Amino acid sequence: MSSIEQPYAYRQRALVEPDWTRLPGWAHATKAEWDDVQWQRAHCVKNIRQLRDLMGALLTDDFYADLERDQAERATMSMLVPPQMVNTMVPATDTPMPAAGEDFTRAFLADPVRRYMLPVFSDRRSDWPSHPYATRDSLHEHDMWVAEGLTHRYPTKVLAELVPTCPQYCGHCTRMDLVGNSTPQVLKLKLAGKPVDRYAAMLAYLSQTPTVRDVVVSGGDVANMPWKNLEAFLDRLLEIETIRDIRLATKALMGLPQHWLAEDVVAGVGRVAQKARARGVSLAIHTHVNSAQSVTPAVADAARAMLAAGVRDVRNQGVLMRGVNDSPEQLLDLCFALQDHASITPYYFYMCDMIPFSEHWRVSLAHAQHLQHAIMGYLPGFATPRIVCDVPYVGKRWVHQQEEYDTERGISLWRKNYRTSIEGADAAALSRDFVYYDPIDTLPESGQRWWREQRDLEQADGGGEVVAIERARASRELAEAQLA
Ligand code: SF4
Repeated sequence: MSSIEQPYAYRQRALVEPDWTRLPGWAHATKAEWDDVQWQRAHCVKNIRQLRDLMGALLTDDFYADLERDQAERATMSMLVPPQMVNTMVPATDTPMPAAGEDFTRAFLADPVRRYMLPVFSDRRSDWPSHPYATRDSLHEHDMWVAEGLTHRYPTKVLAELVPTCPQYCGHCTRMDLVGNSTPQVLKLKLAGKPVDRYAAMLAYLSQTPTVRDVVVSGGDVANMPWKNLEAFLDRLLEIETIRDIRLATKALMGLPQHWLAEDVVAGVGRVAQKARARGVSLAIHTHVNSAQSVTPAVADAARAMLAAGVRDVRNQGVLMRGVNDSPEQLLDLCFALQDHASITPYYFYMCDMIPFSEHWRVSLAHAQHLQHAIMGYLPGFATPRIVCDVPYVGKRWVHQQEEYDTERGISLWRKNYRTSIEGADAAALSRDFVYYDPIDTLPESGQRWWREQRDLEQADGGGEVVAIERARASRELAEAQLA
C-alpha cells in the first residue's frame, strides 16, 4: 500500500561551498586567499562598479540600473557584501550555472540571499513601499538606552551595542537608524561618546543593577570590534557577579566565517570561554542565517571551532522575509542544514520589523502563525525555532500571543507582562494595548481600500509614503535630541 507523502519531505543534504571561480572576478582566487579574513574584507562588494567588475557579463545592464535606482531612492543600508556571501547567491551546486545575461539575471533576481543583501528597486512594492506607521528605530531601542548604546527593555536582560558597523550590511536591518553608512535616504545617527567611555558607562550600569543577569553583546556585529577590545570588555563583564548569561551577536559567523576561524580569535574565544565556565556563566554565540544555501562547510567549521573553544552553544536568530524564507520548506531546509551539519541550534525567526521601505519583505501575522504551525513536529523540540513578533514598546511575543487581530485591516493588539525601563511609573503599562501592522498589500481588497482612504485623508501632508518618511525623520530627530 502506498503511503501519502508528508507535507515536508526530510532528507539529509551535505553542505557545499560553491565554486567561487565561476564568478569572473574571482576566477583566479586561490583557496588560501579565500580562507584569509583580510582577503575577504578587502574584496567585499561595496558599490555597483565592484559588482560589475566581479560579475562581468553575467548580469544585464537593466539589473545594474535597477540596483542603482534602489540605492538612490529606497536603500536604508549601504552596500557591503563579503565574498563568502556573494558566493552563495545562485550557487549552482546542484543545478547547472545559468547562461550569462538574461538567464543568470533572472536566477539572481530570484535568489533568496540576493533579495535581502542586494535589494533592487523593482523588488519593492510600488503602491506601499513603506507602511504608514514605519519608523526608524521601530523598536524604540534608543528610548530605552540607560547608557549610550545600552538598551534595557526586558526586566532581566540588556542589549549592549558596542560598535555601529558590521562586516556585511543587510537590506532589512532593524538598526538601520544607527548601523552602517548613511544612504541618500537615511542620514545615520552617530554615537556621540568615545567607545572607551561608553563601555565604562555600560559596565557601571550593569554593576549597579543586579536585576540584570543576561547581556547580549552586539552592534552592529562584534566581529567588527578588534578582538583585544572585545576580550577586555568581556573580561570586565565576567567580573560582575550578577551576570549569568552572555551572548555574542555576530552574523559574521555566516557572512565572514573566516573571522571566527582566525587563530587569534579562536584562541581569544577559548580564554574567555574558560573564564566563563570557571565562573558558571553561559557564553553563547548568536548568529543570523536566513537561507539554507548560506550554510556552507566554512560556516560549519566556524561554528564547530567556537564550540571546541568552549562556547556553550551557537544559536541562530533568522529574520522571516518574503521571497527569502517564507515557506515551511525553506524554513525547515534551513533549520535542518544548521542542526544536521553545522551544530547551530535553530532558535528564533523574527518577523521583519516595520522600518521604512521594508513592506516587500514583511509577512502578515497570519502567515507567520501558519508557518509556526507548519514547522512544528519535524525538528527536536529544543531546536524548533519560535517565530516571534517584536512589537514596538513591548518586545518579543510568540506570534500566537496577540490579544486581538483584525485580519481585514491587518492590525493586531498585544499586551505585556513587564515594564520596560521607561515605564517604571506607568501603572497602566500592563493593561495597555500595543499595535502591530501587517503589510498592506497582503490584506483583502476591503482592508487595502480602508488604508487608501486613510492615506487620502492625509493627502494634505503629501500622501502615505511621504508621511512615512516624515514620521521616520521625526523619530530620528527625537533620538538625536535625546542624545544631545
Ligand atoms: S549584521 Fe545585523 S546589525 Fe549588521 S546590518 Fe545585518 S542585521 Fe543589521
